[in-house]
Amino acid sequence: MQIRQTNHEFNFGSYPTFGHNIDPKQRAWIEVRGKALETNVRNLRSKLSKNCQFMAVVKADGYGHDAKVVSEYAIRGGASQLGVATLKEGVKLRSFGVKKPILILGNLYTKRDLIISFKNDLMPTISSIRECLICNNIGKQFGLKFSLHLKVDTGMSRLGFEYSRFIQNFEKIKSFENILIEGIYSHLSSADEDNALDPKSITQLQRLKFNELLKQINLDRNNEIKIHLANSAAMLLNKDFHFNMVRVGLSMYGYSPLTKIDKNLSLEPALFLKVKVAFIRTIEPGVNVSYGGKFVSCRKTKLAVLSIGYADGVPRNLSGKIKVIYKNKLYPQVGSITMDQMMVDITGSNEIKVGSTMILLGSDGDKTITPIDWAKESDTIPWEILCSFKNRLPRVQVD
Ligand SMILES: *Cc1c(COP(=O)(O)O)cnc(C)c1O
Repeated sequence: MQIRQTNHEFNFGSYPTFGHNIDPKQRAWIEVRGKALETNVRNLRSKLSKNCQFMAVVKADGYGHDAKVVSEYAIRGGASQLGVATLKEGVKLRSFGVKKPILILGNLYTKRDLIISFKNDLMPTISSIRECLICNNIGKQFGLKFSLHLKVDTGMSRLGFEYSRFIQNFEKIKSFENILIEGIYSHLSSADEDNALDPKSITQLQRLKFNELLKQINLDRNNEIKIHLANSAAMLLNKDFHFNMVRVGLSMYGYSPLTKIDKNLSLEPALFLKVKVAFIRTIEPGVNVSYGGKFVSCRKTKLAVLSIGYADGVPRNLSGKIKVIYKNKLYPQVGSITMDQMMVDITGSNEIKVGSTMILLGSDGDKTITPIDWAKESDTIPWEILCSFKNRLPRVQVD
């Protein structure tokens, strides 16, 4: 037995700890289903023409699933390119040994960052001549061509060259000797809206604007260039949005962003959120549950205390609005969701015990709960639900 020092100063020296064998399934965890990802990519790709490539969007740590696992299975499913948001995300994928082309969807604007991008063989998104000149100089410095994608703004007003100046800039960039234009793209603002196929919709207007540019740059001569516009929603709308590459995030993870679901397309959630029952208690009628006493029992109630809370990324405004699955049955969450725990009404169940595993997101039998369900109750979108999950939740890979 080691005698520990009793002075009260932190000395940041060594301290014997024994946490390395804590079970990742000890309280709450995210189960990442590699096979589901692979199958989703394969099913989605079956909707594309043969010459259309699939870029798997793995930004924000693969929408919270673990970018390494997602990249591996997406590539197995046939993804030929990867998309990340940041320089660091791209470098991380390279450090894992990912060899596929990687596009950084965010903007890099310093020479320092663009050099790091270049050295790691990451393609930046370029939205101005200024950035392009930096890239050309870097290419010159290394005696190579700097591969990159040009982005044009067709109505998102976020990144991208100004639409009216694009052709002029494109011609100029073509003459830069140390630049290789690998792609030209734009991003849609409203492809998941119900009216996206309406000829007067923003989505159709953006598509027409993009097409108009492509006509002017004579694609026959530039047919090596990847042309891409579609996110998940646009990919699922129809082939007019596909060009020769699509950038797919949400639907690859198993959720359609469209309200009208294509019955010929099966998507399987790749993420299950599971939690252990940490404690069970029975309360009398008329007893407060959780902070603020927002829930009061109206009968003798058996409560399961689950070890997950808003510090894990479950939105607090879902308090009292969600259900939890145990063996093909749904149980309502009651009272305020706290930082580290939440309570569930399990009255009538004798099966659920301390240490039982309940499902917050995922399915069991014919019961399914998805981030789309949570998003509706939480007044947000499924994308935000997925990337809210914190590192406190271990990601556990299953097939
Ligand atoms: C995130 C992102 C995507 C993927 O969007 P999904 O709707 O999740 O498919 C595509 N393109 C760009 C530029 C993005 O930032």
